[in-house]
Amino acid sequence: MILLHGGRVLRPGSFTAEALDVVVDGDTIADLVPPDGVKGDGMQRLDARDRLVIPGLVNGHTHAQGHLAKGLFDRYTLELYLNGVPWATGRRTLEDKYLSAAIGAAEMVRKGCTASYDMFAEFPLPSVEGVGAVAKAYADVGMRASVSMMCADRSFFEAIPGLLDFLPPGLREAAAKIRLAPHQEAVAACRRVLETWSFDRDRVRPALGPTIPHHCTDEFMVGCRDLAREFAVGTQMHVGESKPQAVVAQMRYGKTLVAHLDSLGMLAPGFCVAHGVWLDDDDRARLADRGASIAHNPGSNLKLGSGIADMRRMLDANVNVAIGTDGTACSDNLNAFEAMRLGSYLSRVQGRGVEQWVSSREAFRAATEGGARALGFDRIGRIEKGYKADLVLLDLGALHYVPLNDVVNQIVSAEDGTGVDSVMIGGRMVLDRGRLTTIDLPRIRAQAEEAVVRLAAANAEQRALAEKLEPYVGQYCGGLAARPHPVHRFCGSESGG
Ligand SMILES: [Zn+2]
Repeated sequence: MILLHGGRVLRPGSFTAEALDVVVDGDTIADLVPPDGVKGDGMQRLDARDRLVIPGLVNGHTHAQGHLAKGLFDRYTLELYLNGVPWATGRRTLEDKYLSAAIGAAEMVRKGCTASYDMFAEFPLPSVEGVGAVAKAYADVGMRASVSMMCADRSFFEAIPGLLDFLPPGLREAAAKIRLAPHQEAVAACRRVLETWSFDRDRVRPALGPTIPHHCTDEFMVGCRDLAREFAVGTQMHVGESKPQAVVAQMRYGKTLVAHLDSLGMLAPGFCVAHGVWLDDDDRARLADRGASIAHNPGSNLKLGSGIADMRRMLDANVNVAIGTDGTACSDNLNAFEAMRLGSYLSRVQGRGVEQWVSSREAFRAATEGGARALGFDRIGRIEKGYKADLVLLDLGALHYVPLNDVVNQIVSAEDGTGVDSVMIGGRMVLDRGRLTTIDLPRIRAQAEEAVVRLAAANAEQRALAEKLEPYVGQYCGGLAARPHPVHRFCGSESGG
């Protein structure tokens, strides 16, 4: 038993942070008592004086494979990034997969995040060993995660109608050679991972991740739907992230991506849309009706120029909203505080009155309880008796809390991660007064420096091809993005829809 004493605790719905001691039994909050309400004889006492105890933030969307590729791209759209994926994340060894995931988990913990929804991609197919390496990295760092197997059975070039034909001869053949495994093999690979899962599902659980609807055949998506039902696991997909995706949906399906997914029976309480920038009211209503979630990734959407998702309309439609950072290859940091702040702030430049802005309380709720629900963990995201002891201790001496006027406003508007003092996950101190307790950071850093040099050489040919393809991808997808579309989601004048 642990007695966390002397802190101020942010309980759900109170928003004032009362002085309370927290009794932790194993991995669970056993009780919340007035200061010195229990003697704590025989308990391990942890000093939380001058600390604000909040539920750990939940990152609704990231990618373990991306963390060795951070900082590689600047002025890139999503489509330019997808063109670059084969070299940016290619030819990874099992150790690289573990390493990339561990770096990400360590950064998330350091910045106050205790659980994440991780779409981990492997080529050509998910493997027991590869997904296992990522799961082990999370388990070793001590973080909770849903690890979804991100895969597809169509290449990027097959997924976008007309793109292959737009390429000049020579490049067209090279791009056409990029082929993924057929859906039967992809479903079988996912099944193997689900059948052999050996990690404690309370800590690290598997999920499915048919990446983007039109990158997957209907047969593959239906196969994933059936696996999700059979193994009672969640599914996360990128849906309506960029405008070209919304345009391609009309070309391919004659309806929106969400309408198509609904017609396949994909939408369910365990289903989570990543992004959801290019959705209409009908899409949000369908997601709400099916009990599905949306992970809103405002930082990534800004960096890739994807648009601004309409969090207010998601909330108004009663869709469960989580907040995510996305992977570091396309938004470069894993700061869930920053993502939460952007989620709130961006709602303020969508041409609406202040009563429609996403308040700091709503943003905080999405980044904790909303994320918990999206990940499928039902006992995290709140500090309450019976919930998991996933706690972040913020230093009230950090200058952004001096003076302390309104706890939640200051967390959402001012916390940049520098106030994170300690992080407990499942009753275990994973970050103790600024020090990561579960990971050898200098070693990880040395391994990462070695890996990027080796991987750059191994992927040089792929990179050269991607760079030749890039102007054509940019031009073709830029043309798709310029087409008129009923959903407009850019700030300022185009904020209707
Ligand atoms: Zn993503």
